[in-house]
Amino acid sequence: MHELSIVMSIVDIAEKEAIKANVDSFSNIGLEIGTQSGIVLEALDFAWETGVKGSVLEKAHKGITTVQAKAKCNDCGEIFEIESLYDICPKCNSYMMEVIQGKELKIRTLEFDSEN
Ligand SMILES: [Zn+2]
Repeated sequence: MHELSIVMSIVDIAEKEAIKANVDSFSNIGLEIGTQSGIVLEALDFAWETGVKGSVLEKAHKGITTVQAKAKCNDCGEIFEIESLYDICPKCNSYMMEVIQGKELKIRTLEFDSEN
């Protein structure tokens, strides 16, 4: 499953960060997911449970911020929000556009309890 490999790569990053920060586990993780990232949130939740088992993220609370996808028109330079890659420029009706935001999946925050 696509989402499970995404979770595994997040775990990978978190494991490296844990070594850097010298902690055993994280209490919170904040993710930023673009509306055009192709990630299905329900599938991600499902994959998360399996993927984080035994890792530094096992007990971490997961917060997700959705990022609205935006595109820039290649013909007139207009920047607009898109719901799909087949949207057209609202200003000049061009199909030529470049997605400038909303395809990403980023780790925004990683927090740990400082007591342990
Ligand atoms: Zn345009």
